[in-house]
Amino acid sequence: MNLKKTVLLGFDVEEFDLPLEYGKKLDFDEQLAISTNGTLNVLALLKQTDIKATFYCTANYSINKPDVIKKIVDDGHEIASHGYYHSDFQIAHLRQSKEVLEHISENSVEGYRMARMMKVNEVEIKKAGYLYNSSINPTILPGRYNNFNKPRSYFFEEDVLQIPASVTPIIRFPLFWLTFNNVGLPFIKWMAISTINTDGYLNLYFHPWEFTDLIENKNLGLPKYITKISGQLFIDKICDFILWAKQKGYEFERTKDFANSIYNKKT
Ligand SMILES: [Zn+2]
Repeated sequence: MNLKKTVLLGFDVEEFDLPLEYGKKLDFDEQLAISTNGTLNVLALLKQTDIKATFYCTANYSINKPDVIKKIVDDGHEIASHGYYHSDFQIAHLRQSKEVLEHISENSVEGYRMARMMKVNEVEIKKAGYLYNSSINPTILPGRYNNFNKPRSYFFEEDVLQIPASVTPIIRFPLFWLTFNNVGLPFIKWMAISTINTDGYLNLYFHPWEFTDLIENKNLGLPKYITKISGQLFIDKICDFILWAKQKGYEFERTKDFANSIYNKKT
């Protein structure tokens, strides 16, 4: 019996276009700068805690900030695709973003995550050459999606490994970035234990911009539940969670390594 318990951390590195959803203007250079600043903070945290993670990057970000992509790779982390643009999608982008990211990172790109966890055609994911897709949040997010009927734990669809974001058993409380922003750590840890004991792993996702000081950027027009904590407070909270998880004996892995171990078990 395999008692190994794995934690997958994913960071969605995109042009920071969230304020645009709230009717604010933010220059493209500013969008890139905020994501870059956050990514560097995340890399420092991962180095300090000595763990590896996965960075889902848009091609658009990567073309403009190739040095950041190279730094992520040099630090031993995985580059996966978060599409070509964060706010524009065409089927052709699946393959094109993979090619761009492989060219810049000089590594194979095996994972995909759709912007805003939107639906994507699995046949096309397969055709574009991805090994796994982590685009499902198997819960209800009002106004965004209702995935309560999807499996909570990993499964195969059209021969592509699906690794949904983690939600707790039964009530499916999501363990994603907004939860870490709004819920106290003792309760998060309690939910994490219950989830990892059920599934054998946790798949958590964040954005680099949460690791920057959004509270100081009041003019971004973001609601309080998004900016409740950010910057150093957020870094400290995630650091606390990582150190706690390591103490519990949980192992942090790049998602592609986790995906490959599932494929190996299958054959
Ligand atoms: Zn995104």
